[in-house]
Amino acid sequence: MLCLLTYCKPAGPGTLNFFSLQDDIKLGQQLRDEIANAPQEYPLLDRTRYAQAYQHLQRITDNILNSGGIKYRNEFEWKLHIIHDDKTLNAFVTPGGYIYVYTGLIKYLETEDELAGVMGHEIAHADRRHSTNNLTKQYGVSIMLSIALGKNPGQLGQILQGMTGKLAGLKFSRATETDADAQSVVYLSKTRYSCTGTAGFFEKMMAQGGQQPPQWLSTHPAHENRVNDIKAKAQEIGCSTQMSDNQRQYAELKASLPK
Ligand SMILES: [Zn+2]
Repeated sequence: MLCLLTYCKPAGPGTLNFFSLQDDIKLGQQLRDEIANAPQEYPLLDRTRYAQAYQHLQRITDNILNSGGIKYRNEFEWKLHIIHDDKTLNAFVTPGGYIYVYTGLIKYLETEDELAGVMGHEIAHADRRHSTNNLTKQYGVSIMLSIALGKNPGQLGQILQGMTGKLAGLKFSRATETDADAQSVVYLSKTRYSCTGTAGFFEKMMAQGGQQPPQWLSTHPAHENRVNDIKAKAQEIGCSTQMSDNQRQYAELKASLPK
């Protein structure tokens, strides 16, 4: 593949990304600001009043961030936000690592390992730059090359701008969901958590049946496939599926949320 200027940094095997790390960060900051300015849609939990909830979530996330497997551990801010909405079983991340977790998801899950699995999944989307990889694919190499060659000054900015409206672009493809699931197993394998933590969530959803999968999972691939893929990945790398002994702390996290 032809590589020009600084925009072209392969992010992984077979992955071409025409955006710089700074683009990921800038894009994430724009989305973060957009969310901060939409308190009706995204009612953020107050950091001072609910300091204990944020501390617990930070502790869980730090276990993953400090596991040694995060490529942009120091480049991205990895800032956590809790959205006060008990009805939404969801979490999402912007490029550049601004992470959002709904109170509904924290209350729904039963173990810290499951939440750690979800956090690993979200961290993977940002760390593996799924959004800007997909943008590169979506707009095509020829457009990206013409921008890189200076034929369309300002167009890169326009493309990034187009991504920020209504959080467009945060929906991931099937391939990126599968990749984030697998990566979550790898991250958790270097922590005290069960490396198949993410699977627990899908299993619970399946056991309850009928309930619509939350957006962050998207409807594809099917839950059952995801569970199987997660377990296969765990087997492949031979990681421990032993649950951590953090359940008391997880109960504390739940108790520290608004009733
Ligand atoms: Zn995802």
